Amino acid sequence: MAEKRDYYEALGVERSVSADELKKVYRKLALKYHPDRNKSGDAEARFKEISEAYQVLSDPQKREIYDRYGHAGLQGGGFQAGFQNVDEIFSQFSDLFSDFFGFGGASPRGRSGGRRGADIEYPLKIDFLEAVHGCDKEIMVPKKALCDVCGGSGARPGTTPITCSTCGGRGEVIQAQMFLRIRTACPSCHGEGFIIEHHCDRCHGRGFIPSREKLTVSIPAGVDDDMQLRLSGKGEPGLRGAPPGDLYVTIRVEPHADFRRKGLDIISQIAIGYPQACFGATIQVPTVDGDRELHIPSGTPSGKVFVLRDSGVPSVRTGRRGDHHVQVVVAVPKSMSPEETELVRKLAEVQNERVNERGFWRDLVTRLTH
Ligand SMILES: [Zn+2]
Ligand SMILES: [Zn+2]
Repeated sequence: MAEKRDYYEALGVERSVSADELKKVYRKLALKYHPDRNKSGDAEARFKEISEAYQVLSDPQKREIYDRYGHAGLQGGGFQAGFQNVDEIFSQFSDLFSDFFGFGGASPRGRSGGRRGADIEYPLKIDFLEAVHGCDKEIMVPKKALCDVCGGSGARPGTTPITCSTCGGRGEVIQAQMFLRIRTACPSCHGEGFIIEHHCDRCHGRGFIPSREKLTVSIPAGVDDDMQLRLSGKGEPGLRGAPPGDLYVTIRVEPHADFRRKGLDIISQIAIGYPQACFGATIQVPTVDGDRELHIPSGTPSGKVFVLRDSGVPSVRTGRRGDHHVQVVVAVPKSMSPEETELVRKLAEVQNERVNERGFWRDLVTRLTH
């Protein structure tokens, strides 16, 4: 038997890959090698290989054994890695596949009729505040449309495709190899089951023409960078009555000058003057909902963090909002007026003796480091 490929290598990931990243990579590869959409000869084998790798690496216990002992560790010991056929993969990962492709694991295949349209991924940039509050975005998605001349058949109007004589219309042929019988896509008709003799002039037999579709995407409040929205049925059209694919809109959130996001919380800084820190003050703090009043008590040290409850980002799922953490920084002016200079000099004269006393700053430093 041929040497088995390393699972990490099969998926093209680092050994330190996170569970989330692993799922993402598998999703991409599964879309690529899905035997219903990839008709190349080795697609099914690759699909099985990546699915086996994912089956093992997505299970923390199996992954640990594999990391320690390699393929040998997974033989015996009660579990079986790998799949006999593609349908088994669909049934094991039915949840994943309904996520990915919009159908369950039950029976996604079926050679009769056309192929389901391909999925499209569309990256969409939005502002930071649009992500926090949600928005409607109009997008123009480049995608194929069914040819308006032949209606997607690919055949010149007035002519009909003929049944492929190599496979008798089944779209696949059985090849005998050693003692194995392998089903592969028919080489004459590329799995279609028919051959077009007279190509449509408009689409050159492809059935599709390039097009664009204008769509409005409703972006829920709280979306984060890299989140994906699925628009069911908005992918490429299917041929010969097959359903269309899905559109995946990948959100790219632009950074904000004042706010940073950490989970559902917002983090920002605000500068105050030394007198405000000493005497306390009521200041205006910019939040994602606009300015909000914040009362700062007297004797506030630089670096102190105040929490504005429920002024953070809403959860996409529950709508519950995080908090806004605002850190107060006592600012030192870059330049001062003669009057300010005079007053600060006076302060320095008064403070100088005390500053040199042991423990003058100790209180403050203790509060900052805790
Ligand atoms: Zn056409
Ligand atoms: Zn054929």
